[in-house]
Amino acid sequence: RPNLKNISAETMEKTGRHPCFSFEAHNSYARMHLPVAPKCNISCNYCNRKFDCVNESRPGVTSEILTPLDALYKYRLVKEKIPYLSVVGIAGPGDALANWEHTRRSIELIKEADSEVVFCLSTNGLMLPYYAKEIIELGLKHVTVTVNSIEPAIGGRIYKFVNYREKKYEGAAGAEILLNNQLEGISLLTGAGILVKVNIVMIKGINDSHIPHVVRKVKNLGVFISNIMPLLPAPGSNFADYPQTGKKELNEMRKLCQLDLQQMFHCKQCRADAIGLLADDRSSEFRLTEKKKEA
Ligand code: SF4
Ligand code: SF4
Repeated sequence: RPNLKNISAETMEKTGRHPCFSFEAHNSYARMHLPVAPKCNISCNYCNRKFDCVNESRPGVTSEILTPLDALYKYRLVKEKIPYLSVVGIAGPGDALANWEHTRRSIELIKEADSEVVFCLSTNGLMLPYYAKEIIELGLKHVTVTVNSIEPAIGGRIYKFVNYREKKYEGAAGAEILLNNQLEGISLLTGAGILVKVNIVMIKGINDSHIPHVVRKVKNLGVFISNIMPLLPAPGSNFADYPQTGKKELNEMRKLCQLDLQQMFHCKQCRADAIGLLADDRSSEFRLTEKKKEA
């Protein structure tokens, strides 16, 4: 069971309307992802940057990029048609914090228009120590960080490079910087009562047997839930020829890790522009490309 000691009543109420953080909410409340964050600051071997970020999305899907004003316009359009829309999330198509100005502005504009919205963002965590304070001040209560390993040697096989403060770090050196920032950033958020979900991409022969250690570590940092996702090898990525993680082994790993920390079993690996109930993506109805893009 997660430690809910420093979680506010407001956060609990919002969680009851968040289909990913609350299983009970997933059939009745909808979320929309706003693809306002095109750039990324790291290179995961399972990623093909022609498509959306694999840390939160299904590979091989491309979302249109929106400006913050487009995002507000689209939010209004969707809310009118889907009144049970409760969550607005930013999950790429790159990294939400590698495009912080866009991410922040989009959240501010929508918050001004509708104070009931539950905001959520997903990140690789590299810039989390820098932006945790602003995330907290913006009023976010739900953040997802993808942590695939807590060992630089293992991370070095998952990340090709990490671009940090104008420098490029390859392999284990990059993985170590990323890992330290993820853990520091997570602690800052959980310390402020934010519910953190940790996504883990399960990659056979690379991090699969290591996953229980990752889960135990993040549990000790106060993480609320973890979401172990299968590697779906993306064409054009460095892991294109790796085996897809099977459903059975995935669920066995989730069950094992559930002994330590609650697990998400209902993740759909949505698009970075997904809209609607988790089981019913309506993103194609709301593409702005052909519509007028102005608020
Ligand atoms: Fe791709 Fe996401 Fe990794 Fe960036 S963080 S390289 S967008 S999978
Ligand atoms: Fe929720 Fe998973 Fe979809 Fe993210 S990818 S919105 S966690 S169901």
